[in-house]
Amino acid sequence: MLVATTYGKVSSLCVDPIEKKPLYNYKPGSRCFSVGSVGCNMRCRHCQNYAISMLQSGRKRTTYMSPEDLTNICRKERLDIIAFTYNEPMIWYEYIMDVMESAPDLHLVLVSNGLICEKPLRDLCGVAEAANIDIKGFTDSFYTEICGAHLDDVLESARIVFEEGVHLELTYLVIPGYNDSKDEIRDFCTWVRDELSEDVPVHFSRFHPDNEMVDVQWTPVETVLECRDIGISCGLNYVYVGNTLTDSADDTYCPDCGTAVINRLGYLVEVAALDGDRCASCGRRLNIIP
Ligand code: SF4
Repeated sequence: MLVATTYGKVSSLCVDPIEKKPLYNYKPGSRCFSVGSVGCNMRCRHCQNYAISMLQSGRKRTTYMSPEDLTNICRKERLDIIAFTYNEPMIWYEYIMDVMESAPDLHLVLVSNGLICEKPLRDLCGVAEAANIDIKGFTDSFYTEICGAHLDDVLESARIVFEEGVHLELTYLVIPGYNDSKDEIRDFCTWVRDELSEDVPVHFSRFHPDNEMVDVQWTPVETVLECRDIGISCGLNYVYVGNTLTDSADDTYCPDCGTAVINRLGYLVEVAALDGDRCASCGRRLNIIP
């Protein structure tokens, strides 16, 4: 019998902008209650949260919180979005299901590496409203050598989440010399367009040296901007850059008329031209949950 020894053991609580997850097309400008535990089912050499993801339960001080304890804090903070994030939420599957059973009115967000079997993933999709899944590279060799996992398993999860109707965004952390070739980025963007939808938002984020990869340089800003250009040239409608400030590459544009419907500077968000989920200028329906 397998026992989830991290059940209810909370390592991290924080109130975050939803943009920090990152989710740009889901309730823009809102705040969420972020929750993390310890442990992960991958072993990424560049993990920025290795202090909690690589440790086993008991080796870091955690606080047990029942599902009700957790949701009470969320409500006291007057928040209606709860995000399981920081370490890998899929290893907390049973706890998340219990949290949502105790507070079904909360909006559930998952920030995940996408490594989970189909049955529990579909169960989670039944209670989740939005997810950001990391696509860490677009070759299996990257996944096996850097993350200790397989690309196809993650792509299958992204397909399932999309098929289940959960709002899905993808994050691709661009690491110089490892997963940043133009061909690889183009293959990834083409896959998103053809296997999911051109409307799935994609975030190209800058890597910073961490964990076992402190010898690798920060990703140049120009590189993530080039990745964004490739995404747009492949036909993706919502392509952003992360871990940097730009004049306009983090804004959301109407794919039809080009109006900037949401402006962003870091976590400062201005909803400029939205009418519900439509462009206020031309009326096109957008893949945005207001
Ligand atoms: S999947 Fe995320 S939390 Fe887990 S080791 Fe990789 S970067 Fe860290």
